[in-house]
This record gives sequence, C-alpha cells and structure tokens, in this order.
Amino acid sequence: MGYREILLELPTDYTEDQLRSKIENELKTKEFSYQIKRKSLDARRKTNIRWQISISASSEQIKGDAPAVTPTLNIPYKKRTKKALVVGSGPAGFFSAFVLQKAGFNTTLIERGSDVKQRARAIGVFENTGEFNSVNNYAFGEGGAGTFSDGKLTSRSKHISQEREFIISSYIDAGAPEEIRYMAHPHLGSDNLKKIVSTLRENFLNIGGKVLFETLLEDLKIKDGTVSEAITTSGTLAADEFIIAPGHSAYETYRMLIAKGVEFRIKNFSIGCRIEHPQEIINQAQWGHKSLPGIKGAEYRLTSTREGGLPVYTFCMCPGGRIIPATAYKNTNIVNGMSLHSRSGKFANAACVAGINLSRVHNVTTPLKALEWLGKLEKRFYKYSDGYKAPACTIKNFISRKDVSTITETSYPLGLKRSALWDLLPVEVSRAIRRGLKDFSRKVKGFDAGIIMGLESKSSSPIQVLREENMLSIGFNNLYIAGEGSGLAGGIISSGADGIKAAMAIIGKD
Ligand SMILES: Cc1cc2nc3c(=O)[nH]c(=O)nc-3n(C[C@H](O)[C@H](O)[C@H](O)COP(=O)(O)OP(=O)(O)OC[C@H]3O[C@@H](n4cnc5c(N)ncnc54)[C@H](O)[C@@H]3O)c2cc1C
Repeated sequence: MGYREILLELPTDYTEDQLRSKIENELKTKEFSYQIKRKSLDARRKTNIRWQISISASSEQIKGDAPAVTPTLNIPYKKRTKKALVVGSGPAGFFSAFVLQKAGFNTTLIERGSDVKQRARAIGVFENTGEFNSVNNYAFGEGGAGTFSDGKLTSRSKHISQEREFIISSYIDAGAPEEIRYMAHPHLGSDNLKKIVSTLRENFLNIGGKVLFETLLEDLKIKDGTVSEAITTSGTLAADEFIIAPGHSAYETYRMLIAKGVEFRIKNFSIGCRIEHPQEIINQAQWGHKSLPGIKGAEYRLTSTREGGLPVYTFCMCPGGRIIPATAYKNTNIVNGMSLHSRSGKFANAACVAGINLSRVHNVTTPLKALEWLGKLEKRFYKYSDGYKAPACTIKNFISRKDVSTITETSYPLGLKRSALWDLLPVEVSRAIRRGLKDFSRKVKGFDAGIIMGLESKSSSPIQVLREENMLSIGFNNLYIAGEGSGLAGGIISSGADGIKAAMAIIGKD
C-alpha cells in the first residue's frame, strides 16, 4: 500500500464526485481511498473563492510512505481507590472528570444547574417572558457556557495537541460531525452541542462516573493545605483530589475560594459590546456576493490599535447567529453571541471589545476589587434598562455620539433600549471602541450600517489563579482550579485542555 498527500482546489459547491475525480487525476488510478486532512476557504480573491483541501490518499497502485501518526493522549488505567471531586460541568470540568474516570478514579462531577433538557427549558422561558432563572441560564447548567455557545472549536493555545485531539474525538464519538477534525474553522453550533453534552454525560456514567446536578459548591473544608470535603447544597462530599472548574461567571465561588486562601492576581482582560449586521452586508464585503453556494456566512476578524489608547478587536464572530441575554445573575445585564450549525440566520454578530488593565486605568489592584468593579458595571446596564433589554444604538450613532436612531431589526430576543451606549461604558473603553468602529468602517464596506448593543463582559476573566508548575493551586496539596475560571484558559478547546492537564497531573501523582 502506498500513500500520497495531495493539495486540491475545488469550487465552494463541489460534489463528492468532483473531489474523487480530482484525486483520480492526481493518482492516475480509480482504486484508492482518501481522508481529508484539512479544509479551509481561500477568499483572498473575490473572483475566485475556493476550498483548499489537503488529502491523504492511499492505494495499492501508488508508492509513498504512510503519513506520521499524531500521538494521542495516553490515559493509564488501573484499579484505584482514590476519589476525585470535580466542580462544574463545562468543558474544563467535564473533560477532567472524564479523563480521571477513564484512569480508574472514583469520580463525582457536581454542577449547580440542571441537566441540559431542563436548562434549555429555563432558557426558553427567559427568552419568551423575561423571567430569569438563577439556576439554569446561559452561564450555568449542564455543559457550562460551552453548551449554548457558538461552538467554534478554534484555539490559539499552544502545547495542547493531544488534549485537543482527545476533545475532538470525544465530541465525534458523542455525535459531532467528522468534519470538526479537519476544518480550519471547526464549528459545532448550539443545536449540536446540546445533544453532544448529554451523550457525553451518558458516556461518563457508562464508565462508572457520577453526576450530581443542582449541587452548588458553597465551601471547602481545608487543613494544612489539604482539602478534605466540599460543602455543597446536596451535603458534604469527601474526596482525595479536587478540581474546581466554575467558569468565569461564578463570582460567589471565586469569593469563597479567595476567602479560603486560594491565591489569585488581577490580569488584563477585555470588555465592550456586541455588534450586529445583516449577514448579507458581511458576505458582500468579504466575498463580493450576497451569498455563495455551498458555504455558510462570511466571517471577519478586525483589530485597531493606537499609541496611548486601548487595543480594540472583534472576537467570537458568529455568522448567521444571534445575540443572547447571557447574564448569570438576576440583576445584571450582559450579552453574548451564538449560532446553530447551519449558520443560516439573517444576522452576523461579534464582540467588539477593548483590552483593559484595571490597575492602570482604574487603580483596581486586588482580585476582589476587580470582581466588584466588573459586577458594578454589569449592574449599571441592568439598572439603565430596568431589566434585560439590551441598551443599543447604531454604529453611526456611536461614532458621531449624537442622535440615537430607532433600530428596527435585531436578533436579540428581549428587546433593545435606545441609548447613548457610549456613555454607559467606562470612558476609556468607549473612546477606544469609537476609534475601533471608525477603523472597521474603513476596512469593511457597509460596516457602519450595523448596530451595537449591551455590555459584553465575558470575553476573558479579570483574574488569574496562581499555580505551581504541577497545576496545583499555590499552597495546596490537592486543589486544582481549571478552565476559564483559572484565568489561564478561555474558549471550549483551551478550557477543556486545561481541565485534562489538571486530571493528568492528578493521575501522574497516583
Ligand atoms: C454565548 C457564548 C458563546 C461562546 N462561544 C464560544 C465559541 O464559539 N467557541 C469557544 O471556544 N468558546 C466560546 N465561548 C466560551 C466558552 O463557552 C467558555 O470559554 C468555556 O465554556 C469555558 O469552559 P469552563 O469549563 O472553564 O467553564 P464554563 O463552561 O463556564 O463551565 C463552568 C460550570 O461550572 C458550574 N459552576 C460554577 N460555579 C459552581 C459551583 N459553585 N458549584 C457547582 N457548579 C458550579 C457552572 O454552572 C458551569 O456549568 C462562548 C461563551 C458564551 C457564553
């Protein structure tokens, strides 16, 4: 058997037959099998937008060595007596629990919210009636922020290839499309994620893991740097090893950890707003067409920097998606964005945020003060709109800082409150975003026809845990803070990978 790597270019709406015939031409044989290794859209020339597809083909009729096999995560199984308790069922918590259970630990995963079915119901009620549910919402409940996210599986984190491969394979085993292995911009969509998250839970239960929903971690019993018990709303749970992966919305959990001596420091993070456009405007600007056969909506990623000003960038762009009320607490108001796998919605949205250093700009120097500062801002938006309507204006209004025009169309489900949004944001953030919007309007034709809304405050955590090299929290023997809540990871893949690294550190000790 011989092997060959081939790079092909195909039209956006190519068929399987076209792909096979291209491979056939290259190999000069009809007898072959193939695997797609990578697929990315080349949109550099608007007159010739094509897929670039890298193929690994094999056939008895050709020569060539087999491609090198990428090493996979080695989880050493043995019968173990030790108990592990994992807090939070987001990507970090779930994948750490899954790996520990596969290694033979007796693993219990606790989650403050309910299973994904009940969670989806509560979110449906919130979006239809404005009645907020503090147990189940876009931040809390099975699968964490990851479940109702956009499900983009890109990550710029380094040194996580084995963990990434484990996560992608686990998703595919749980029903995700095979294409997430090779797409340059893999995307699951919230509809797929809901099903995947409950199948993953079944897979965890099938290998002996335990899951306790509606179980909030309230306190920890600690002696001489060793945690012995977690005090939860379902009672006291003893364990030998503890991984806490609460995401970065759980302010009271952070406060409890800080009170218990877990060391955090403040770090740079980003805040801003969500921008929204008709998807056709973005398609036209990026592709020169309102739509193209065979592909979903066009994407963008924009940055703006100026000496002496805060850096501004777009983030978590959701083609064909919608803006959602993403608050975790009753009296705060924030927005975020997501999409379904089809990405067929009428609008495109993205965060437009400014990077901020709180100690430099607001003289905030401790983690508790940073949490307080952010919480106050989230409350200010709630107070301003007296609920969950998103304060909003047009991008043109934001740039000119003059009138506030009426907005007729948006994907945001709970209504908009016309507002001088620039006045609700901290002044330096507002100034930077205004400059960013001006720059982006020069770069993307039609950009200033969009709208801008709400507070986007969850693109990254304002605080970061202090860790030993072996992932332990400084001063502790068996406590690991993992995922986005650690301030050292962000996004589905990097948070999941961080959880897996914590699990592997525990396995390495035993
Ligand atoms: C709307 C939206 C869209 C997003 N889109 C993308 C995307 O496309 N791609 C991407 O990579 N990232 C995306 N993200 C970010 C991504 O979802 C997060 O980075 C990721 O989920 C973080 O994983 P985590 O496990 O660290 O935390 P989380 O997913 O936040 O999970 C934490 C879990 O801990 C639970 N918990 C908290 N405190 C306690 C406690 N005291 N006791 C018990 N349980 C507790 C919570 O209920 C939650 O389930 C998006 C986020 C949002 C909100």
